[in-house]
Amino acid sequence: MKKQFAIIGLGRFGTSICKELFHMGHEVLAIDKSEKRIEEVTEFATHTLLADATDEASLTKIGIRNFEHVIVAIGDDIQASILATLHLKDLNVPRVWVKAQNDYHHKVLEKIGADRIFHPEKDMGNRIAEFLTSEKVIDYIDLSERYSIIEVLATKKVNGKTLIDMDVRARYGCTILAIKQQGKVDVTPDPSDQLHAGDIFIIIGDKQDLRRFQQEAL
Ligand code: ATP
Repeated sequence: MKKQFAIIGLGRFGTSICKELFHMGHEVLAIDKSEKRIEEVTEFATHTLLADATDEASLTKIGIRNFEHVIVAIGDDIQASILATLHLKDLNVPRVWVKAQNDYHHKVLEKIGADRIFHPEKDMGNRIAEFLTSEKVIDYIDLSERYSIIEVLATKKVNGKTLIDMDVRARYGCTILAIKQQGKVDVTPDPSDQLHAGDIFIIIGDKQDLRRFQQEAL
């Protein structure tokens, strides 16, 4: 279903979101105070607008309150990001998602009612660190400071074993959500089935336990 989005701040982050949403067929209004940035996204947005998002009157005039979803992707100018978010919430925009620059910025955004807060650089840094420390990790979702879900490739260590033999919950405190074998995902794997090198485990748990599990068991 086609949705309406407005993106404020067309740096690399805002521009990527703008392009992706536009390619997905959504209606995208791209806003920036820089004429040059606006020119660069013209072909990837439904509408563009040169405006200062810290100016509440401008936001009101463009009818920002009619957008169900607004993304504030202003990075360096924390004050502008906070002020724009404040105006958007005052104008009752239902979903305001904001890029945070640091933890202090995050705290303020939380207090003023941002509906979702991103840390793209930090999140990407964590993901890359996870991939760098183990070649077995195929994908990784950070759930919180403590928990994550990983998709991890089994080596020949598992050959001839079953889930019963591995006893993952008791030994590592982690839960297997699914096993991918030859491209097929099984969300209710039979605990007595033979496992093989190349199987992919999708598993949730405490990050330290997950690390121990994939180092020792796979
Ligand atoms: P990124 O890290 O995503 O590449 P960047 O470092 O290039 O971003 P930022 O300082 O994060 O740039 O700003 C992103 C964009 O937000 C810039 O294009 C800037 O012109 C725009 N911007 C900053 N303040 C405002 C504002 N008050 N109103 C509208 N746009 C703004």
